[in-house]
Amino acid sequence: MKNFSIAIHGGAGTLVKGMMTPELEARYKQDLKLALDAGYAVLEDGKTAIDAVELAVKILEDSPLFNAGKGSVFTATESHEMDASIMDGNTLNAGAVSLITGIKNPVSLARDVMEKSEHVFLAGEGAMQFANELNYTLEDASYFYDEFRHQQWIEIKDTDSFQLDHSTKKDSKFGTVGAVACDQDGNIAAATSTGGMTNKKWGRVGDSPMVGAGNYANNKTCAISCTGSGEFFIRGVVAYDVACLMEHKGMSLKAASEEVIHKRILEIGGDGGLIAVDTNGNIAMPFNTEGMYRASKTSEGKEDISIYKS
Ligand code: ASP
Repeated sequence: MKNFSIAIHGGAGTLVKGMMTPELEARYKQDLKLALDAGYAVLEDGKTAIDAVELAVKILEDSPLFNAGKGSVFTATESHEMDASIMDGNTLNAGAVSLITGIKNPVSLARDVMEKSEHVFLAGEGAMQFANELNYTLEDASYFYDEFRHQQWIEIKDTDSFQLDHSTKKDSKFGTVGAVACDQDGNIAAATSTGGMTNKKWGRVGDSPMVGAGNYANNKTCAISCTGSGEFFIRGVVAYDVACLMEHKGMSLKAASEEVIHKRILEIGGDGGLIAVDTNGNIAMPFNTEGMYRASKTSEGKEDISIYKS
């Protein structure tokens, strides 16, 4: 049996020690632990990395604390438009959805695109039609309503600005969730899900559903899930860039992910972080912001749940 491991994130951003009440901090850690343990149990059972990342992301989507699924931020038209993707490093199969509404678990719809359609990426109406054909039930707007997020939107709704959930405001919550895992067969997978950015307009799509930008998995190198300023992560093709540094420059998982997050994405003006795993179960979780909600667990008995810089 090979080493197996899982890492998850709930977004990176302006997360400074002391900005949250101890109770709220405990809730974040509790929800991270729920997702981490559930994903880890899948791996411990000998099931696949793709099953583990889907389940971990579903649990984070069900938490109102993170900007994905239930906790998604408001768009300019006071709705919720979600993006998600999933990729299997063993087969290089991938599935992605964007601009979807009312779906409780966007990551599962992304997986269905991967497994039950001949396509990789479905957006908007087409994605919703596909969900309808698979008999997905739609949640109404009240399921996604969160007072804090509504307030965040009210504050900027009449402006032209759109805001990362991890904005420079010290009291902001942060968003996007993701998971990467390496299973007992040494197969790796990645999944990412987000509500995007508060007050986003005109069908804006971020990096999270884009294969190679916010999410990527390839058994040759690594599985990656990103969080941060999506426009920059798209231009930096961040997830694939980490894989390229490993494949073409022979860099380790840690060195490649740190090079991208602490150098290459900063050079083009992006901020955020990523979680990464390789087929030996090694984990890296670099971020260039003040904090990142993150957790990891390995079959060697290492477990970590953190928010701030250590
Ligand atoms: N990367 C996400 C996006 O741009 C946002 C985030 O990570 O919070 O949609």
